Amino acid sequence: MRLHKLAVFTVLAIILSIGCSRKDPAPEAGEGPQLELQKVQEGTVVNHTFMAMDTLYTLSVGVRGPWSPETADRVRAAMGHAEAAVRTVESTMSSHLASGDIHRLNVGTREWVQVEPSTMDVLVAAVRVGHGTGGAFDLTWPALRPLYRLKNPQWKPPTDAQIEKALRLVDFRAVELDVHGRRARFTKAGMAVDLGGIAKGYALDLAAGALARDGFLDHLVNGGGDLRVGGARPDRKWRMGIRSPRKDGIYKSGTIKAPSFALVTSGDYERFRMVDGVRYSHIVDPRTGRTARGAVSVTVIGPDGMLADALATGLFVLGPEEGRKALVHFPGYEALWLDEAETVQATAGFFAAWD
Ligand code: ADP
Ligand code: MG
Repeated sequence: MRLHKLAVFTVLAIILSIGCSRKDPAPEAGEGPQLELQKVQEGTVVNHTFMAMDTLYTLSVGVRGPWSPETADRVRAAMGHAEAAVRTVESTMSSHLASGDIHRLNVGTREWVQVEPSTMDVLVAAVRVGHGTGGAFDLTWPALRPLYRLKNPQWKPPTDAQIEKALRLVDFRAVELDVHGRRARFTKAGMAVDLGGIAKGYALDLAAGALARDGFLDHLVNGGGDLRVGGARPDRKWRMGIRSPRKDGIYKSGTIKAPSFALVTSGDYERFRMVDGVRYSHIVDPRTGRTARGAVSVTVIGPDGMLADALATGLFVLGPEEGRKALVHFPGYEALWLDEAETVQATAGFFAAWD
């Protein structure tokens, strides 16, 4: 991906990782993942960009000291491992890909389905966030999906009867997990699960973990504006910003105190449809079967991407008042809610997390 495209995508992203420089990065020639180099004081910032999970990913690492062909090889290998980790999450957890765990679970009836350890980790977390948010985050929301095909130009809001019928199959408590046997099943026939609100966050964690394991503790993984960050660049800390949901521009930018954290946003301004002046977003409230109206955007900061991602979706549904109560179950996670007028509500620690 060339830089101008990268810039466009990055501006569209909900959260910007303000890492790109005044100077244009130079491509580094070689086999394997394409690298873009940006010389900074005391070292180099290296970026690698690719599309996966319907999202643009940019992996960045900070390298101190002089750049050499050996360093290029080490970075390229690490970027390859991190990219592969994201692609593996996509292939095992996508609802569409026939070989994946989630697809096999959804097409089955009620029998046990064997899943990968990674899928089990995400299912366990999804159910945990289901409990912690009182069902505002619910991995079994797909029963409602046929009622919310927002891409269809003829789409109309569903009727009460349609919603009532679909809601009978929305219940995260009906997903049974045998963690030690690594199996999952539904206790109601006809259910389906979808990890669209959590798997991208998990992919951030795996990509960051791959970079760290290969020796690059200074990294930033940006998946469509959701970030997982470790350490710092050679010259300064990684900078990031939260986009204004209704105005153009940045609501807040800066750096964060923790040496390793995730910063994830759910907003209603990228995927939505307006009908009769009412905005319908891609997040549904599984408790009512209606489009979520708790907020316009929610940003969550916390130690890992998987929980931050699921929480951002769940707290979007809940809004600030109920959301604050839910966060008691998730120590270490802080949230910021913005509404139509960009009125700010945040947990006590949200602003304190920034430098
Ligand atoms: P994005 O993928 O746009 O960053 P989110 O992380 O907020 O957005 O996740 C939205 C996705 O989560 C939806 O596209 C859908 O797949 C799924 N989803 C929608 N509503 C819910 C919900 N209440 N609970 C769990 N998952 C949901
Ligand atoms: Mg999410």
